[in-house]
Order: sequence, then structure tokens, then C-alpha cells
Amino acid sequence: MKGAKENRKAAKNPDLLIAGGGLAGLALAAILGRAGAMVDVVDPSPAPEPLKGLIPSGRTVALMESSLNILRAAGIGDVLERFGCPLEVMRIIDDSRAQDEPIVRDFEANDIGMARFGMNVPNNILRSALFEAVKGLPNVRLHTGRSVNSYQPNTQNVRIELDNGYEIFAKLLAGADGRGSIVRTISGIETHKVEYGQSAITCIVNHSRSHSNTATEFHRPGGPLAFVPMTGNQSSIVWIEKTEQAEALIALPREAFEQTLQARSANILGGITLESPPECWPLVSLRARSLKAERTVILAEAAHVMSPITAQGLNLSLRDVAALAETVIDHLRLGLDPGAESAIRTFEKRRTPDVFSRVAWVDFLNRIVADDKEPVKDLRRAGLKAVSRIAPLRHVAMRYALAPSVDEGRLAQGLPL
Ligand SMILES: Cc1cc2nc3c(=O)[nH]c(=O)nc-3n(C[C@H](O)[C@H](O)[C@H](O)COP(=O)(O)OP(=O)(O)OC[C@H]3O[C@@H](n4cnc5c(N)ncnc54)[C@H](O)[C@@H]3O)c2cc1C
Repeated sequence: MKGAKENRKAAKNPDLLIAGGGLAGLALAAILGRAGAMVDVVDPSPAPEPLKGLIPSGRTVALMESSLNILRAAGIGDVLERFGCPLEVMRIIDDSRAQDEPIVRDFEANDIGMARFGMNVPNNILRSALFEAVKGLPNVRLHTGRSVNSYQPNTQNVRIELDNGYEIFAKLLAGADGRGSIVRTISGIETHKVEYGQSAITCIVNHSRSHSNTATEFHRPGGPLAFVPMTGNQSSIVWIEKTEQAEALIALPREAFEQTLQARSANILGGITLESPPECWPLVSLRARSLKAERTVILAEAAHVMSPITAQGLNLSLRDVAALAETVIDHLRLGLDPGAESAIRTFEKRRTPDVFSRVAWVDFLNRIVADDKEPVKDLRRAGLKAVSRIAPLRHVAMRYALAPSVDEGRLAQGLPL
């Protein structure tokens, strides 16, 4: 691939066109661009705010070590260390039975020989850092404020038309264009979707006590409430409620919202004030029935959406990113067509077991955690006690939550592309 960079800078037709410059699309562009591939990225939203001077706001993502390895390959390792907060302890408090004492159980990273499970990183910081990493690459073209309208694959390439009529001929089209994916729709890929009737309230809060790098999740009637540590005395909140209830909560005056949240937190973090305003995200489970069409693949939320409990969404998406980057680069290095059926079949075969099993597992957990029926509560509480008491069971559960038992590629292990 050496020397190819300069030629590709001038080349008109990219190896890969990525629809979607969200976290997944930009990570893919940065990894492939740094390896010398010619990449175009199309996204209707404007460029994010510059990283310099940016303050964390909105949502955060808890990323496991394997995901951090993948993002390091995108060239943003220093940003992760600067803005990420280590996750050292996961505390679960089952407070679902008013008549009983809450069950409190800690799961510690050092119990499975790790210094930390991963890091919690603000989404806005991550997107700006990835955007800047991509912008600095001469062989990546960014089409901001543009969207993919249509595509036509043939034996040589795929012709993509943008909303301004601009045409791009790429070898492969990658749809990383989010849950409403146009690429998924126009390529005819069907989905299996479940609406939960729940929404997640998210915000960033300041608190008077230290979180000690502990993420705390309350299991309570209605739905779980998680405090995920950020740098300093701040945490991000993911608070799941029935949609009607969630909308009513975010409509509360600021002080009333803060008091309600503080009461729900049993004061474990002391006094709470809002740093960023609460927002509401409707929850669904969605899985594409296939990850490919002719000269096309879909990945990340275009292919799977999950409830945020257990923080699996972007972690799963980054494994898609890594698998696609490895497949594309392996083909390019051998002088093969990265959009050929062999390449997209390799990607789909690699990713299907991980995607299917994670979406099913998170859907199952979401139903169990939100269920208020007494027998389910009993089962949940007994399960939590057993998992925390029996060391081998506890270790298996923690490892499964952290990393896949399938598809651990080069990038996830921290190896070079
Ligand atoms: C409350 C909440 C908490 C979460 N917490 C975690 C967590 O702790 N850990 C974790 O791993 N995951 C978490 N997730 C999931 C994670 O946030 C998402 O998986 C991730 O942000 C999705 O990234 P994406 O790039 O797939 O999609 P998006 O961010 O939606 O990006 C899609 C991009 O495609 C663009 N686009 C749309 N239409 C077109 C078009 N026609 N042409 C071109 N581009 C288009 C959009 O503008 C957008 O920029 C959470 C999710 C929620 C809702």
C-alpha cells in the first residue's frame, strides 16, 4: 500500500463510500484512511464543533477495552485518555421491593485481572476528535451537509448519487447511517424491530461526593437508573422509564428534576445539580435480517439498535467497524476488489453471530430488568445474589458483558491493522 496514498489523493473513485459520519462511520473512515485506503464520507449534518475548548455535553458512551483499542487505531488514543473516566467498579443495587432491603453488589475489574473495565467518554468529544482525525487525512473526502439518495451496483463498482445530484463511483458502499438508514432501505434489507414503549432520559450531573470510578445501576420499579462516572465530580445519567413518564420527568422545572433524581439515587453521590439539560431517547430493539446487499454492507446502528442497559451499542458497532476495516484492507493489500462478493460475505459471516447474540441477549435483559411482576423480581434478585457469590459464574458474566467470545479481530486486540 506504500506510495498508494499520494496516487489515491488524486484518484476520483474511492475504494469505499461511507454513508454516515456518526461515531461508527468516522471511526471506520479514520482507520481505513490511516492505512492508505481512499475513502469518501457523506453526512447530512454539519461539521461538529472543534475539539479545542469543547465541553462535554449530552450523552456519554461506556467503552470496553477492546473498543478503546479500535479507537486507538483511529488515531484518537490521547483524547480517550484525556477525556475518558476509568470504569473500575460496576455496582448494582436492586431496590425493586419496597418491603425488602436493597441488594447491593459490586463487580470489580481487578477481580478478573483488569485495572479497569473500560472508559466512559462524552459523545460530543468523541465525534469531534474522530472528525478532526479524518479531516487531517489527504485520502479521505468529507461531504458534510449531503446525504446519499440512491445507488446502483454493477460488476465493477457502485454508483452513488447524493442529494445535490453529485455522482460517486466506489468499489463498496458502507451504510453507517444510523437507525433510520437510507442505505438499508434502498438496498432492500429488512429488519426485525421491537418498540419497548420506554425512553431513556439522559443528562450530565455534578455531585458533591466522589464516584470513585464506580458506575452504579439501580434496578427499581419502572426501569433502571444508571450513574456512569465522568472526570471530576460528574456523572452521566441513563434513566429508563415508560415513555409517558420520561416525558413528564424532563418537563419538570430544573430544581424539581434535580430533587427527584437525587431522591432516586438514595443520595449516594450527595447533592446533585444538572450540568446539561435532560433529553429523552425512545428505546427500540432493531436487527437487520442481513448485513449485506450487492456491493453494499450495513453496520452499527444501521444494522442493530439496542436498549442502552449494559452499554453494548457502540461497543458492538466498533467491532463491526474493525471487521470491515480488516476485510477491506486485506483485500486491497492483495490487489483484490473490496466490494466483491467474497469481501462482503467475509464481513457478514464474521459479524452475524456477534450481532445476533448481543441483540437477543440485551433484549432479554431489558425485559427482565423492567419487569415488575413479583416472580420475575424474585428471580432477578436471586440471580444477582448467585452471580455475585459464585466466583466462576461472576467471572464468566463479567467477561461476557465486556468482550465477545466470537470475532475478536486484530484491532480489538490492539494489534496493527
Ligand atoms: C441513552 C443511550 C445511551 C447509550 N449508552 C451507550 C454506552 O454507554 N455504550 C455504548 O457502547 N453504546 C451506548 N449507546 C449506543 C450508542 O450511543 C450508539 O450506538 C451510537 O451513538 C450510534 O452511532 P452510529 O454511528 O451507529 O449512529 P449515529 O450516531 O446515528 O450516526 C449516523 C449518521 O448517519 C447520518 N445519516 C443519516 N441519514 C443519512 C443519509 N441519507 N446519508 C448519509 N448519512 C446519513 C446521520 O446524520 C448521522 O451522523 C447508547 C445509546 C443511547 C440511546
